[in-house]
Amino acid sequence: MHCPSCNSVQVRKASAVYMDGTLKTKTRIRGVGITAGRREGLGLGVFTGRGVSRGSTIAAEKADRARVIWIGPFKGLSVCILFSVIFAVLQLYDPFGKALGLAIAIMIGCPAATAILAAMNNQDYDRRWYCDTCGEVWTGEI
Ligand SMILES: [Zn+2]
Repeated sequence: MHCPSCNSVQVRKASAVYMDGTLKTKTRIRGVGITAGRREGLGLGVFTGRGVSRGSTIAAEKADRARVIWIGPFKGLSVCILFSVIFAVLQLYDPFGKALGLAIAIMIGCPAATAILAAMNNQDYDRRWYCDTCGEVWTGEI
């Protein structure tokens, strides 16, 4: 297997690149917290722990399978407020009602549309390859 774009043989399965990239970003999380231990009593302390940061390498992100985009209540509310302001500026009748309807439509429509796209995109994910040299992602044979 070689890269169709630059002919490099430094290619890996996309799923392996994704796994690798996300494992590397496992970082130590340090924070301050309140502990309520039986022996220590209530106390303030610094804790360290292992956790996976949300960030991953660019390669991992490129090699990741398509995912469904969810718009949570917070984002939905932001969208609602944003459109309320726009509709108010445009002097439309009932700007908040219109904005709320639109925000709900986006909150439902966005996951639905991206779920369909993701399902179509991920059909050949097991045959997807990633080039370590030029970053090309393509679908080939296993
Ligand atoms: Zn390449």
